[in-house]
Amino acid sequence: MSKKITKEIIDDLYTLLSPCRVCPRKCGVDRLKGEKGNCNSGSELEIASFHQHFGEEPPLVGKHGSGTIFFTHCNLHCVFCQNYQISQLGMGHSASIEECAHMMLRLQDLECHNINFVTPTPWVPQIVKALAVAQDQGLNVPIVYNCGGYESVETLQLLDGIIDIYMPDIKYADNDSAREFSDIADYWDIVQPALKEMHRQVGDLVMENGIAQKGLLIRHLVLPDGIAGSKACFEFIKNKLSPHTAVNVMAQYYPAYNAHKYPKINRRIAPREYQQVLRELEALGLDEGFRQTMDTIVRRIVPEWTDDLKET
Ligand code: SF4
Repeated sequence: MSKKITKEIIDDLYTLLSPCRVCPRKCGVDRLKGEKGNCNSGSELEIASFHQHFGEEPPLVGKHGSGTIFFTHCNLHCVFCQNYQISQLGMGHSASIEECAHMMLRLQDLECHNINFVTPTPWVPQIVKALAVAQDQGLNVPIVYNCGGYESVETLQLLDGIIDIYMPDIKYADNDSAREFSDIADYWDIVQPALKEMHRQVGDLVMENGIAQKGLLIRHLVLPDGIAGSKACFEFIKNKLSPHTAVNVMAQYYPAYNAHKYPKINRRIAPREYQQVLRELEALGLDEGFRQTMDTIVRRIVPEWTDDLKET
């Protein structure tokens, strides 16, 4: 975090809360008065947990973990959300600005390599205010913005110089799938300019001694039946962002939360589906980032795939 967070930046961000246009849903409710919009977030921060996290990507985890703070609520409503208790059911507790700042400093004291905000989108003004408090008290590790990709460019522009590592999802490459499975009508229209703005700010991922310092790291969760539009997502990344973009292609989809009500996604992906997606990625020359080996998937995720793997 190189930039000093000024009162003007905080004031500009708080203006976005009333009427709320922090994210592209632009609900227009008065968050400063405690009104709640689509994401169900009010005026005071809500946090589900904070801890050293060893399950993130290796350059974030290093030896001492990623200093993760899980914020309650989300501006997306994915029927397959694996964190649905936090994002959809509101698990968490109110936290003051000072308490949030203290969490960041505590995680830095534990030698975490970064502070990793999970689902920060509805809370950007309050988070930046807390960051300023922590910054004044010596916070100096990289700041990670770990989000679903449905972001307002206006809000992102106010984060320029504050966020070191953007880690957005790219969930779908068409609006219809997003409408059906994440209750949002214009995901594909929004995620593209949002990712361009993130890349403009921080560029490709930069590491020092294996630890991420700055840049863009995109997550893409492969969904059954090609619903995630993986190839089109990769084409956008290569052609509109950078062929050197770090991409984590994730195979761990399972029908969590309400996904069992949707026959098209009520199953895990097959190894051949994941391999096909990797072939598309390789054909485009996107070779930075992370893949799960088939061996890892078979051993850790779906042992019953062993026979299927032998056929592919
Ligand atoms: S942050 Fe929440 S209340 Fe504000 S526009 Fe987005 S969904 Fe609506």
